[in-house]
Amino acid sequence: MNPLLKLDDVSMHFPNKDKAAKNTTIKALSNVSLSLYPGEIMAVVGESGCGKTTLGKIIAGLHQPTGGTYYYKDEDVSKLAGKKKKQYRTNIQLVQQDSYAALNPAKTILQSLAAPIVRHKVARGKRAIRAKIIELLETVGLRPAEQFLPKFPHQLSGGQRQRILMARAISLDPEVIVADEPVSMVDVSLRLSILNLMTTLNKKLGIAFVYITHDLATARFIAQNGRLAVMYLGRIVELSSVGKILENPQHPYLQALLTAVPIPDPKIAKAKNELPLKGLEVPSLVNPPGGCSFHPRCPYATEYCSEELPLLREVEHGEVACHYAERIPKWHLTASSN
Ligand code: SF4
Repeated sequence: MNPLLKLDDVSMHFPNKDKAAKNTTIKALSNVSLSLYPGEIMAVVGESGCGKTTLGKIIAGLHQPTGGTYYYKDEDVSKLAGKKKKQYRTNIQLVQQDSYAALNPAKTILQSLAAPIVRHKVARGKRAIRAKIIELLETVGLRPAEQFLPKFPHQLSGGQRQRILMARAISLDPEVIVADEPVSMVDVSLRLSILNLMTTLNKKLGIAFVYITHDLATARFIAQNGRLAVMYLGRIVELSSVGKILENPQHPYLQALLTAVPIPDPKIAKAKNELPLKGLEVPSLVNPPGGCSFHPRCPYATEYCSEELPLLREVEHGEVACHYAERIPKWHLTASSN
């Protein structure tokens, strides 16, 4: 199967606006290669500042990479024009974290959802547009749909606003939705229902998802039959199917993330071995460490690690960017994250 999207050695370096650090760049993303296949769910996980949002914005066409090539259906996105560019823009939709900021507070839900439908001629005439919006609201579980049409964003809960954003995204019948931390601002009790909505849209409509998060538990849930990409300091350090990656984490950074997840059962928590990192501070993206960027924190680092950048390479359970993935001890996870 051909990939829908392919990033080939993509980098994104922003000029540093800090006056004290003139002529430097922020290396938000460095040499990322990644493919997304039709109907696939891929979760991208990492701490804040690891480059995952930048990656999502590049995929959605909001940033033009400063290095490498990004392909949509085998065509260089930077060279798309006319009809093809419009098709790409329609087929890749972005759902952002802050649903309040993403919706115009002065417009009703009917007006907000009608705008893309009118612009892209999905339906014509007031009656057909209204019918389409009602259908979309029902698809995302907002029932009775008519009740939501005259409401303003501030009259809805965070979970309902996220569903409106999903309705707006699917109104253009996209092939991919990039969902950037879609549940992090939603009440905990409603998160599961939003995640379930995304998996339903994936199954029923065949929409591929790139789910961006800092939370391994939700990543594991949504991408249970998909893949997981782990990012650290602007690079992908591990990539595999969710089952393999979580049962057999190869990269010490992922092992550290997994062993640091709090466990409610005190007995299991006591038995759990946290990976003893050398340092807790995440280095700067302006001046990332040479060689493996994880080496200042990695308990297995050698001199070679500080000199030579490990590339993402195939190992038994997926792909990993670590010189010693096959040799370092495997930290067994004694319990699952909540
Ligand atoms: Fe640690 Fe070296 Fe592997 Fe980097 S390459 S994760 S420093 S062992």
